[in-house]
Amino acid sequence: MQGLILLVEDEQDLAATLEYNLQREGYLTRVAHDGQAGLDAAMQEPLPDAIVLDLMLPDLSGTEVCRRLRESERTREIPIIMCTAKGSEIDRVVGFELGADDYVVKPYSVRELVLRIRALLRRARAAGAEAEPEVVRFGRLRVDREAHRAWVDDKEVSLTALEFRLLYAFLSRKGRVQTRDALLSDVWGIDAEVTTRTVDTHVKRLREKLGEAGDYIETLRGVGYRFRDTPDEAVA
Ligand code: CA
Repeated sequence: MQGLILLVEDEQDLAATLEYNLQREGYLTRVAHDGQAGLDAAMQEPLPDAIVLDLMLPDLSGTEVCRRLRESERTREIPIIMCTAKGSEIDRVVGFELGADDYVVKPYSVRELVLRIRALLRRARAAGAEAEPEVVRFGRLRVDREAHRAWVDDKEVSLTALEFRLLYAFLSRKGRVQTRDALLSDVWGIDAEVTTRTVDTHVKRLREKLGEAGDYIETLRGVGYRFRDTPDEAVA
């Protein structure tokens, strides 16, 4: 089985064409014609392996659907390809703001979309198959997740259990947006009585403790945080 693809597309003819072609390539498909139906279909078991999401939908916008998919623990890791009619939307769509994994600009060829889907699935599967090593190195930072210890330039950093969980949450999703709400549920637990301001306070403290390695954690104003994809990445 190649995978289950959810198509969220309100143009019924286009949706039918995509569905036909994906099935011919060996994919299973699920189709939704508006944003809310798309969200519902994304949460339904079995979860889709990838989502093709149109930006312009009649009820919720594709951007709003994407944001909600990223906020839900259930759907957060599902690769999303955004379909946009406007080249000017691309930065926003694939940038930090929304966290889509890839995009195609309309009108796109079905062939192109199929290739994008295939590449995304391959990447997602490779990431899932990688055994999590005990010690993770990232630039000047070294983290031992079993021992709950961290070093910067081989000098140990004294972290609280919570700061360690926070650092580990960042590291394990490096290069991707972490909203404050997502961090709250991952690090503090969903029922914790803390506000997003608490997240900021702890991130600030963690950064201070990490010294120059604290620069690996970038602030995305109004959105949350992002741990750099590579240690030497230039600050945008
Ligand atoms: Ca549309």
